[in-house]
Amino acid sequence: MAKTLKKADVVVVGLGWASSIVANECAKAGLKVVALERGANQDTSDFLGAHDEYKYVNNFALKQDLSKESVTFRNESKQMALPMRKNYSFDVGNNVGGAGVHWNGMSYRFLPYDFELKSMTEQRYGKNKISKDYSIQDWGLSYDEMEKYYDKAEKMMGISGEDKSPFSGKRKNPFPNPPLEKTTMLHKFEKAAKKLGYNPCMVPAANCSQPYENSDKQSLGACQYCAFCEHFGCEYAAKASPLITTIPSALATKNLSIITHANVIEILHKNGRASGVKFINTLTLEEFIQPAEVIMLGSYVFNNARLLMHSKIGEIYDEKSLKGTLGKNYSFQITPSVNGFFDEPFNVYLGAGALCNWIDDFNGDNFDHSKLDFIHGASFRISQNGARPIASNPIEPGTPTWGAAFKKASVRNYTRFTYIGAQGASLPHNSNYLSLDPTYKDAYGLPLIRITYDYTKQDRKLYDFMLPKLAGIMKEMGARKFYTSPKLTNYGLVSNGWYGSTHIAGGTIMGAKKEESVVNTYLQHWDMPNLFVVGASNFPHNPGYNPTLTINALAYRASEGIIKFFKEKRLLA
Ligand SMILES: Cc1cc2nc3c(=O)[nH]c(=O)nc-3n(C[C@H](O)[C@H](O)[C@H](O)COP(=O)(O)OP(=O)(O)OC[C@H]3O[C@@H](n4cnc5c(N)ncnc54)[C@H](O)[C@@H]3O)c2cc1C
Repeated sequence: MAKTLKKADVVVVGLGWASSIVANECAKAGLKVVALERGANQDTSDFLGAHDEYKYVNNFALKQDLSKESVTFRNESKQMALPMRKNYSFDVGNNVGGAGVHWNGMSYRFLPYDFELKSMTEQRYGKNKISKDYSIQDWGLSYDEMEKYYDKAEKMMGISGEDKSPFSGKRKNPFPNPPLEKTTMLHKFEKAAKKLGYNPCMVPAANCSQPYENSDKQSLGACQYCAFCEHFGCEYAAKASPLITTIPSALATKNLSIITHANVIEILHKNGRASGVKFINTLTLEEFIQPAEVIMLGSYVFNNARLLMHSKIGEIYDEKSLKGTLGKNYSFQITPSVNGFFDEPFNVYLGAGALCNWIDDFNGDNFDHSKLDFIHGASFRISQNGARPIASNPIEPGTPTWGAAFKKASVRNYTRFTYIGAQGASLPHNSNYLSLDPTYKDAYGLPLIRITYDYTKQDRKLYDFMLPKLAGIMKEMGARKFYTSPKLTNYGLVSNGWYGSTHIAGGTIMGAKKEESVVNTYLQHWDMPNLFVVGASNFPHNPGYNPTLTINALAYRASEGIIKFFKEKRLLA
C-alpha cells in the first residue's frame, strides 16, 4: 500500500526549467513546495573536467534511461507503433535540472506572428490560405502580453544578446548581457548575409558573456568557450541552468523540498479536483502519495500528456472525429541545412552552445507568402558550438567512411568545415498526435506514449523553399564545396541522419477557448482548476526557433496563475 506523505501547497512533477521556475516563484511567495524528480540529484561540481565525449554524447549519460521508459512511434494510424530503443531523435532530460543542464542555451523570443498565427495569416492571405487539415490556432496570449514574462526569464537566465533583428517583437529592456564574442566563422556568415541583403545578428545566448548576478541574486560565471556545452553540464556555472539559478534560489527560502528517484505515475483526483500524485521510488520500488493543494506538471512534452491520459483527465484527441484536445497538435521541426567545406581553417575547437549568428528574413511572415503554397518559415543559423574530437569528422560525400582516406579527409576538414542549419516551423496537422500505446509499457506498468507523426505537404514545401536560400549564403561565404541536406522523405526517429532535437511541441496545448485547448492562458487545466501543465506541450504549433525561453516565460505566467489561484480558488480568466 502506498504511504501518504505530508500535504504540500504545491507539488511540481519533474524538476527541469519549467518546474523549477514555478517552484522558485511559489517558494518565494511563501508556499510550501515539493518537487518530485525521477532522476538523481546533481550540481556543478559533477561537471568539473567532465569532458568524456563518449559518456555524455554517445552514451547519453544525462538523458532518459530507455530501458525504463521510452516512446513508441508510427508514421500513420494504420501502422503498429514500435518503441524507440536509441536516444537519438529526442534526448529527453533526466535528473534534477532536466535537459536544462545539458542544453545549448539558444534563447530566442518567438515572433509576434507566432502567438496570433491563425488571425494574422487569415488577415493577410484570407481564410483559405491553409487547408482545414491543419489545426492552426492562436495561442490566447499576444506577444505584447508575453513580453513581461520574457523579460523575467531573460533576467533570471542572464541572456547575452543584441537587439538588432528588425523582425523581433519590441523589447521593454535591453538584453541583460552583451553578446558573446564573434569568431571568424561568424564574421564570415554575417558579411555574406549582409551582402545578400539579409539582417544577421548574434543569437541570444544563455551562455553568459560576462560574470552576472541574476534577478534572484544568483551568480553566473563568464563563458570560457570550452566547447563542452551541448550534451554537457557547465563546469564554469556560465550556462544558465536550473542548477545554478532557480533551484538554489528556491532552496534558500526553505520552502522547497526535493525528492529524487521519484517517478510520478498518476495524478489523483475526484470531482474535478486534483488531490495529489502517486509516485514510485525508483530505487526501492515503494509507492508514495504526495497530497497537495495544487499540482503542476513540468515533466516534458511526453509525460505531461501521458500523465493526463493515464489519469483520465480530459478528452483524448481522436483523429477520425477530430474530437478531444489532449494529445492534439503534436509537432516537430523542419531542419534543412547546408554543409560547407572551405580551403582556409576556422578555429573550431573553441565554441559555446549558443555561439551563433542568425537571420530571420525567412522566418514567420517576414517575407511575402502570397505566391507560396506554405505559410511560416525558418530561422537560419551558423553555429560555433565547438567541434569535439570524436563527433567531428566532416567528410565530403564519396569519401570512404573508414581507413586511411577517411582519416586524411577528416583531419584536413576538421577545422575547414561549417554548416548552416535552418529551424523551420512545424504546423499541426490532424493526423499528427500523441496517444497511449495499447501494447508497450514502461518499467512501472504504465502505457508508453505513442507518437503518430509524419511530415506534411506544408513541411515539404517549406523545406524545399529554404534549401537554395541556405546554399546561397554558403556560396557567398566562399565555401569550396557545399552540399544541401537530402530531400525530405518520411519522418523517422533514427533515420533522419542529422541532429535529433528535443524541440517538440503540443499535446497539452494552451488557448483562449476550452473547445480548442487543454489549458487556459495561465496553463491551468480547463477541467481541473488546481492542476497546471507547463512546457512546450503548451505550444499550439512549433515555431522556427528553439523552445526554452518561451517555456520559461510561460512558467512565469503559470506561477502568477498559481499564486493567484491560492487567493481566488477558481478557474482564472
Ligand atoms: C542537447 C540539447 C540541446 C538543447 N539546446 C537547446 C537550446 O539551445 N535552446 C533551447 O531553447 N532548447 C534547447 N534544448 C531543449 C531544452 O533543453 C528543453 O526545451 C528544456 O530543457 C525543456 O524544459 P522542461 O522543464 O520543459 O523539461 P525537461 O528539462 O525535460 O524537465 C523535465 C523533468 O521532468 C522529469 N520527469 C519526467 N517525467 C517524470 C515523472 N513521471 N516523474 C518525475 N519526474 C519526471 C525529467 O526527469 C526531467 O528532469 C536542448 C536540448 C538538448 C537535449
